[in-house]
Amino acid sequence: MLDVATIRAAFPILETKVDGRPLVYFDNSATSQKPRSVMDAVTRAYLQGNSNIHRGVHRLGAAASAGYENARCTVQRFIGAEEEEEVVFTRGATEGINLIATSYAETFIGKGDEILVTEMEHHSNIVPWQMACARSGAVLRVLPFHDDGTLVLDDLEGRIGQSTKMVAVSHVSNVLGTVNPVKEICGICHEHGVPVLVDAAQSIPHMPVDVADIGCDFLVFSGHKVHAETGIGVLYGRREWLERMPPYQGGGGMVSSVKMEHTTYAPPPLRFEAGTPNYVGAMSLAAAIDYVSSIGMEDIMRHEEELNRHMLQRLGEWDDITLYGTARERCPIFSFNLKGVHAYDAGQILDRMGIAVRTGTHCAEPVMDHYGITGTVRASLAFYNTVEEIDLFFAALETTRDLLR
Ligand code: PMP
Repeated sequence: MLDVATIRAAFPILETKVDGRPLVYFDNSATSQKPRSVMDAVTRAYLQGNSNIHRGVHRLGAAASAGYENARCTVQRFIGAEEEEEVVFTRGATEGINLIATSYAETFIGKGDEILVTEMEHHSNIVPWQMACARSGAVLRVLPFHDDGTLVLDDLEGRIGQSTKMVAVSHVSNVLGTVNPVKEICGICHEHGVPVLVDAAQSIPHMPVDVADIGCDFLVFSGHKVHAETGIGVLYGRREWLERMPPYQGGGGMVSSVKMEHTTYAPPPLRFEAGTPNYVGAMSLAAAIDYVSSIGMEDIMRHEEELNRHMLQRLGEWDDITLYGTARERCPIFSFNLKGVHAYDAGQILDRMGIAVRTGTHCAEPVMDHYGITGTVRASLAFYNTVEEIDLFFAALETTRDLLR
């Protein structure tokens, strides 16, 4: 059992009152809140060790460089990567996918090749691949999902082949909450020699994520969804891929030598980190990882399973709610509509009662199209949320229904 009271005390923003009512923050899939230790790490970096990294010979430069590279090691251990050189710092999951869809695609994807994504992807795992197709002449293929929010896995083998140069799949859907069987997917794809990119933006805050166990070729996530600052993220790439990929951007820090006639690039990961990186963000990510690791990702997952059960039980009491995504393997992310109530109106009324949820298409229009809807309310929980908050949420939902009908 998690000591949720102590955990909540570490997140000052959770004490916020909304028009005198306690804030119930159920918008964690959009971004998560930050513990004091993360904010302290940021303050400490600027107070004691701020200088540009990998450049100055002086003490502050050395301290900042060490902080940045230590953060890389922290990430490496957290995701089970074999080598720290396989960890590239990015701005976030979106930039990580764009990097692969540019650098990997430039070398490995050509006219007539295919890229497979799933119907449940976030736009950030669709649009960069559409752009890569437009540049290379490759074709985008789609693996559909069943109405319960599980992928049509039986179709996978039929949709990949010699022309498939990448399968890009989310670990957890940001709308349906489904945990996809990414290990199994990697196994099937690798039998056909197809590399796999896992978008772990929504899994990393909820469960242990181990790239060696999953067996993926690439994995991306954003720091801000796992309690770090915004503007920092991670791209994991197997050494054998990263070494064969050209740089994504040019600039300082990513080169071995620059002559007017010719430039040689630094090896990975620095090859992919042009310009001054977000080194303080990286330190905030290390602090966030230290924080969630001190609680334990397994324990976080178990507490969230309890939240998941309670939420599903309460949702089941409403026959005028449609829940999108009822897979058995799921994270506490719930997208739903209340009969006769527009999602946006529900979100606004809930806000007046202190409940923060997201409404809209959740950057996943193909999921909306699957169900023939224009949007949903989404309640997404984190380990600092409680069963009591879920009950407050349903009380507020009842009021919302009464007001809007
Ligand atoms: N993938 C998924 C599944 C997401 O939920 C998100 C964020 N909502 C992203 C990618 C993109 O993350 P970011 O905007 O932090 O780059």
